Amino acid sequence: MEQGLLTVDLGAVVRNWRRLCERHAPGAVAAVVKADGYGLGAVPVAQALHAAGCAHFFVAHPAEGEAVRDAIGPLPMVAVLNGFAPGAHPRLTPVLNSLDDLRAHAGGEGLLHLDTGMSRLGLDASELDALAADPTPMAALRLRYVMTHLACADEASHILNGLQAERFATACARLPTLPRSLANSSGLFLGAQFVSDLARPGCALYGINPIPGQPNPMEAVVRLEVPILQLRDIPAGATVGYGAGWTAARPTRIATVALGYADGWLRAQSGQGFGVLHGQRAPLVGRVSMDLTTYDVTDIPAAQVGETVEVLGPAQDADAVAALAGTIGYEVLTSLGARYTRRYLPA
Ligand SMILES: *Cc1c(COP(=O)(O)O)cnc(C)c1O
Repeated sequence: MEQGLLTVDLGAVVRNWRRLCERHAPGAVAAVVKADGYGLGAVPVAQALHAAGCAHFFVAHPAEGEAVRDAIGPLPMVAVLNGFAPGAHPRLTPVLNSLDDLRAHAGGEGLLHLDTGMSRLGLDASELDALAADPTPMAALRLRYVMTHLACADEASHILNGLQAERFATACARLPTLPRSLANSSGLFLGAQFVSDLARPGCALYGINPIPGQPNPMEAVVRLEVPILQLRDIPAGATVGYGAGWTAARPTRIATVALGYADGWLRAQSGQGFGVLHGQRAPLVGRVSMDLTTYDVTDIPAAQVGETVEVLGPAQDADAVAALAGTIGYEVLTSLGARYTRRYLPA
């Protein structure tokens, strides 16, 4: 094996989705598969979840939506969060993010997006006032849901969570009645106020912890194993990698593996974390370079060239790697590059 092997457990994705369905009952649960299913493959993920009964999918871009539509047939809703020009994608459902969007898509369908505290996309307070005063633009559309997006759902005690739920409920009460869509992954763990007709989890499906600081209730989905290309014995005092960023304190065996920042192994992880081989942890030493990363395997004498080092898996998940690199598990997964062999374990 010359390149890394990325294993995605579709059974675990489906079990995670079912777990969220139980939590959100009687509301339905969609699947957010934007950014190629958070880097894991939107098409296989959508196919597995569709087979399991998921009937609503969200992507960010219309091209992502077209690929999902091709994969799952005509029936499920495929909603495009960033929207698209009227008539451009008849098989997809646009999220309508402004009053202008509502008017432009007259005669078509869509989801109505209200901004309740994100200040990003969606109708703002003044547009809501205008729509409440004159809901005519709504009558000209087949609106499937009214939705809003939580800004701080991963911080359960944040004051904005309750405020957004209240603003959303108040706004919906001022408009013609529609099914509602509120919670993302973390929102599903905030309580009854956040149950709606359709939750929109993404990260939790892929095994990211939706309740940071507490034990992860989701099943691990991803495993990344990368091959050792070369083993090298260096004396005490020798340095490893760019910038001579690490100095051996003792005679050391270095394993160089086919993994780098071009594969999404963030450079901010230089000198941090570990790989697992023969059931033992080998510390990552030196800088992460574009295509190569180095591990200290001195204490794992059985290590051989051609063997693989597990760098993402049960011992070190995307959240753990993200914490080391000063980011979030979402970014670790969506950064995973195109150079791995991908293996999908069937649902
Ligand atoms: C990305 C996104 C989601 C999913 O969020 P997670 O935190 O991954 O569950 C839901 N709704 C909207 C509008 C999004 O942009």
